[in-house]
Amino acid sequence: MNIAIVGAGAAGLFLAQQLSKNIAADIYVFEKTAKVATKLKASGGGRANILNENIVPDCYNQPAFIRTLLQKVDAKTIEHAFVQMGLKTVVDEENRVYPATLFAQTVVDVLLENMSPSVHIVVNTDIQKIQAKGNLWQLNNMETLFHKVIFASGSPAGMIRKNRQAYNAYLDSLQLDSKILQPSLSGFRIRQYPNILFGCRTRAIVSLYQNQQLIAKEKGEITFKEDGLSGIVVLNMSAYYNRLQDRQNCYLLLNFMYEDEDYDVERHLKTYKTLSGILHPKLNQLYRQKPFDVKNFRLDIEGVYDFEFAQVASGGIAVGEVDENFQLKRYKNLYAIGEMLDVDGICGGYNLFFAFASAYCVAKNIIDGNKNCQL
Ligand SMILES: Cc1cc2nc3c(=O)[nH]c(=O)nc-3n(C[C@H](O)[C@H](O)[C@H](O)COP(=O)(O)OP(=O)(O)OC[C@H]3O[C@@H](n4cnc5c(N)ncnc54)[C@H](O)[C@@H]3O)c2cc1C
Repeated sequence: MNIAIVGAGAAGLFLAQQLSKNIAADIYVFEKTAKVATKLKASGGGRANILNENIVPDCYNQPAFIRTLLQKVDAKTIEHAFVQMGLKTVVDEENRVYPATLFAQTVVDVLLENMSPSVHIVVNTDIQKIQAKGNLWQLNNMETLFHKVIFASGSPAGMIRKNRQAYNAYLDSLQLDSKILQPSLSGFRIRQYPNILFGCRTRAIVSLYQNQQLIAKEKGEITFKEDGLSGIVVLNMSAYYNRLQDRQNCYLLLNFMYEDEDYDVERHLKTYKTLSGILHPKLNQLYRQKPFDVKNFRLDIEGVYDFEFAQVASGGIAVGEVDENFQLKRYKNLYAIGEMLDVDGICGGYNLFFAFASAYCVAKNIIDGNKNCQL
C-alpha cells in the first residue's frame, strides 16, 4: 500500500510515525519547504507545549466536535504515545505538558527516530494538484499512485506574506466546504493607542466586550507593543473575538489590580496621594498625565495582527466534511487533519493536541482497516 501525507508538520510527522510502526506500507511525507516541523519547533517559545492534560472542549471553536473526538482519543492517549517513543514529559501548574528537556527539537527528534525506514520524507516538494486515477490518487504528476492521501498542510499562521499565497490551493479541485482563514491567537491592534505605554509589561485581568456584553475574561501577563497589545491572555481573547459573527464595537477592559480585583483604589489614592506603589511605572506616568480608571482601562480593538504574528488560523476545511475518522465524507481514502481543519483552540497545548489527536484517529482507522496490524 502507498500512503501519502501532505505536510511534514506536527500532524503529518506524528501520523507517519504511528503508521510506520504498525503497518506494512510505503509512507511518503511531502513537505514543500526545505525543513520539517518548522512550526512545531517554534511552538511554546521553542519549548513546545505539546498538549494539555485537561482538555476543555469549550476552549475550542468546535466544542461538540472535540467532545466526540475525546471519546476516542484524549490527552493521556497522546502523552502515552510520546512516552512510548521515549519522550520524558513535564507538566506545569496549568496542566500544560512539555518535553522534559524544554526543547521543541526533542519532540521532533523522537518522532523522526521512531519512524521505520518505510517512511520517506520528501522535502522541497510543493503539492499543487490532486486527482483521482481509478481507485487511486495522483499528486502533482508523480508516477507513484497512492491508496490513501492525508492532507496535513496546516495553515498560513506564523508565515510571512510571500509564503502564504495560494495556501492549500491544491485542494481547490475537491471543492470542499471551508471557512475563510483569519489570523488567531494573535495580538490586537488598538485604536487611539496610548504610545507612552509601548514596552510596558504588566499583569492584568483582561475582559473582552462587544457592545457592553462580556465575551470572555482571563487574567495574565500583557505586553504593550508598538501599536497594540499582546501576551498569552490577549492571544486567547483574539480566539474568542474571531468566533464572533461580526466584530464591530469590540473593546478590552483592563483591570490592573491583578492580585485583588476589588482593591479600593480610591482609598489608596486618598491615603498615599499617588498610585506609584500599585501601578507599572509606565501606567503611572500615563495616569499622572491623564488620570484613568485603573480597574476599567478601555482599549478599542481595531483588529488582530496579521498571520505572520498569529499562532494559528481560525477557519479552514469545515468539520462537516470529515467523518469521525477524519476521512472526507465525499472522497474515500482522503483525510484531513490538524490545523487545516476549521478547529482552533486557545493557548496551552490545545492546538498541538488537536494536530496529534486527529493524526492518531487516522492512523488507527487505517491500521484497523488493515487486518494484519494493531495500533
Ligand atoms: C509561534 C507559534 C507558537 C505556537 N505554540 C504552540 C504551543 O505551545 N502549543 C500548541 O498547542 N500550539 C502552538 N502553536 C500552534 C501549533 O504549532 C500548530 O497548531 C500546529 O503546529 C499545527 O500542526 P499541523 O501539522 O496541522 O500544521 P503545520 O505545523 O503548519 O504543518 C504543515 C506543514 O505542511 C507544509 N505544507 C503546506 N502546504 C504544503 C503543500 N502544498 N505541499 C507540501 N507541504 C505543504 C508546511 O510547509 C508545513 O510544514 C504555535 C504556533 C506558532 C506559530
